[in-house]
Amino acid sequence: MKKTRLLTLSVCAALAGTLGLTACGSDGSGDDSGEKKLTFMFRGGADEKKAYEAAIAKFTEDTGVAVEVIVTDADQYATKLQAAVAGNKVPDVFYIEQANLQSYVNSGVLKDITADVEASGVDLDNLWTFGVDSYRYDGKVQGQGALYGLPKDVGPFSFGYNKTMFEAAGIPLPSVDEPYTLDEFVDVAKKLTLDTNGDGELDQWGTGLNVQWNLQPFVWSNGGDWTNEDKTKVTVDTPEFAEALQWFADLQNVHGVTPSAEQAQTLDTYQRWMAGEIGFFPVGPWDVSTYAKLDFDWDLIPYPAGSTGESATWVGSLGIGVSNTSKHPADAAKLVTYLSADEAAQKTLVDAGVQIPNLIDMADTWAAEATTKPANRQEFLDIVQDYGRPMPAAVTYGAQWYDDLWTNIQPVLDGKQTAAAYLKEAQPKMQSFLDQSIAQAEQAAAGK
Ligand code: CA
Repeated sequence: MKKTRLLTLSVCAALAGTLGLTACGSDGSGDDSGEKKLTFMFRGGADEKKAYEAAIAKFTEDTGVAVEVIVTDADQYATKLQAAVAGNKVPDVFYIEQANLQSYVNSGVLKDITADVEASGVDLDNLWTFGVDSYRYDGKVQGQGALYGLPKDVGPFSFGYNKTMFEAAGIPLPSVDEPYTLDEFVDVAKKLTLDTNGDGELDQWGTGLNVQWNLQPFVWSNGGDWTNEDKTKVTVDTPEFAEALQWFADLQNVHGVTPSAEQAQTLDTYQRWMAGEIGFFPVGPWDVSTYAKLDFDWDLIPYPAGSTGESATWVGSLGIGVSNTSKHPADAAKLVTYLSADEAAQKTLVDAGVQIPNLIDMADTWAAEATTKPANRQEFLDIVQDYGRPMPAAVTYGAQWYDDLWTNIQPVLDGKQTAAAYLKEAQPKMQSFLDQSIAQAEQAAAGK
């Protein structure tokens, strides 16, 4: 059923591309029979799909509104949604990425649900401000104005460690309050990098981090950033930024505390962390249901801190919005407020270990529970409330300028080019993409 549905969308998109936008008409939208049925398109791993389907079943039970779910894997979602938009088959309710909000509003895909949210009685003060504001847009600035969605979740990107490995190595456990300095972190990572069976080959490493998801904490805590405050100038060519990227690359090339590129190819560091071979590894709320099954003890700590002495990391969010073409906009908005802010729905999703509570009062109770891992789950809340930042491209018009940093970064990671030299090269290209995106945003807003 789901597969057929996805196939229909892709075929429509392909046809839409060659035959024009009307190729797929309105068939299969779920509205033709006159029966009230919403389509909801989302993404997630197996545990997340199961949890959302359970929450949606309860919504149908409570409201009598049937919901057809279209679920994709995370990496296919953006493409499938674009295909649905191109084919004039936008689902009634769907996940929106922060970085796409402005273009979906400007092109008329997303509905303004401010009035529906107000009428629903949802207490917005009991939702994380960062989450709610991510889906506000006044036509110029994202973060203020009308609501074009509510948060599906907020995703604090925390840092974990293998407690069992520390105990086996006789190393004092890291503090949950005082972050390591970068030097302290390297020292501990060296102690954890071991040939445990004496065959001359390493089989345990201090860490193994993906640059795209993990560079931010080290750059920010070192006083660097991707742009200036109003997001008009790319600032990756600063000494603070270069120092953090060089330190990141040195973990492998100088300090040898991560699996080599070759070793990571045999088994990636995510798999090695799960096999108990990695000391420090990032942890998001979406990982908790999987990591709960690991056969070692682990917990959360603040990220090691660079020259500012303050931990930093990013907090993401996905939103849930309503299509401007929905034939049942009131019910669609109801599904949004239900998934985002209903207590029973939130409990289902939180108990499944796929996200932290959206409701602040529920989060406080949840943080105090000590029955399941991680023990220091307060760290997730501290990130959301205190030290988490949006991704650099979260509120710019598109992310090409940001993505470009990763395109040619490999020589730095391989130790073949210095971070400073690379960043000096990268800045003008990134700046040119950012300039284009600012011009596009201005054009789109003017043509709206
Ligand atoms: Ca060995």
